Amino acid sequence: MRLLLAIANLVLICMLITACAEKPLNTIDSKNMPNLTNTSLHKDAPANIRDPLTISAIGDILIHKRVYTNAKTKSGYDFLPMLDQVKPYLTKSDITIANEETMIGGKELGLSGYPSFNSPKEVGEALKASGVDIVSIANNHSLDKGETGIRHAIKNWEDLGMMYTGAYKSRKDQQQIRVYKTPAQPSVAFLSYTYGTNGIKTPAGKSYLVNRINYSVIKSDINRAKKRADAIVISFHFGKQYHPLPTQEQKKLSQFAADQGVDVVIGHHPHVLQPLEWLTGKNGNKTLVAYSLGNFFSGQDAFQKRIGGMLTFDLVTTSNKKDPIQAEDPRFLITFVSSEGAYKYEVVPMASLKKYSGDYEETKKHLSQWMPELSFIN
Ligand SMILES: [Zn+2]
Repeated sequence: MRLLLAIANLVLICMLITACAEKPLNTIDSKNMPNLTNTSLHKDAPANIRDPLTISAIGDILIHKRVYTNAKTKSGYDFLPMLDQVKPYLTKSDITIANEETMIGGKELGLSGYPSFNSPKEVGEALKASGVDIVSIANNHSLDKGETGIRHAIKNWEDLGMMYTGAYKSRKDQQQIRVYKTPAQPSVAFLSYTYGTNGIKTPAGKSYLVNRINYSVIKSDINRAKKRADAIVISFHFGKQYHPLPTQEQKKLSQFAADQGVDVVIGHHPHVLQPLEWLTGKNGNKTLVAYSLGNFFSGQDAFQKRIGGMLTFDLVTTSNKKDPIQAEDPRFLITFVSSEGAYKYEVVPMASLKKYSGDYEETKKHLSQWMPELSFIN
């Protein structure tokens, strides 16, 4: 986020200049940014040694009608106070990615909640203001409002200067791998795919609208991403809802990603937290896998569906030629959607809720059962 503040300013300026208004946000290259001070510190360092890049990932943002009704103001919607307590954590990393499960088509399309969602564009504004830099938008709800919903949502993300991945406005847009690039850190590509779209078919000839899980397509996208970036973070919308452990298919697809050299797999859809795991790819590379990050911000009321979190890790340069960039030091902030404050849906660090300390300890054990070294952010 530190760096992204500068990038956001640049994007805003860019949006005011007609000449570059058409330029898609597929690559954010900070090379030309004069206010990135850390560059000069490393100008003598060997080209292959980079500073670590810290990335945070949060789970499902699922805006039910009861959530946006609660956020209503005289002139629109304000979700910012609901994220206020987690904002200091979300802004800490270089890059924060969220799974935006409901499309922000905006009120022109008619707002709606479950089962066919369309969310206010203010959700995007609040995420951006709270520290989110990238949204993964390949979900089972991507086509809830059809092609129009996707187009409106993408327009709203573009107006905000936010990078989106997983759903696209054209074939050309889909083919442009999203990459974050800075002079001193590893560059990273963000890919995203969903198992399906609740039975809603993609309009004929427009498969670019939503990326679907397809092993050969994923393999070819990973190969293209490798040419553009040092590291790859891939989001999968998969698994069984409300299951605390990953399915065989989640394991198989994550292993496939590891075998292709992906550095980090971020899973979502089950709406509950699943354990983290290290996988070893066929070339001996290490892959950090979060099978499900649970709900981060939703109106789902059941206790386990209120628990979610933020995974943070560093991408570091190694001397291992077979695995030159590795995810290291995974750490987890467990969050809870509280209904006890001024707002009925308020995301708070779970450790701050003393009455749930037993559940908090259980959640820590559950998440770290296959990764004993996983640490927790309080
Ligand atoms: Zn889902």
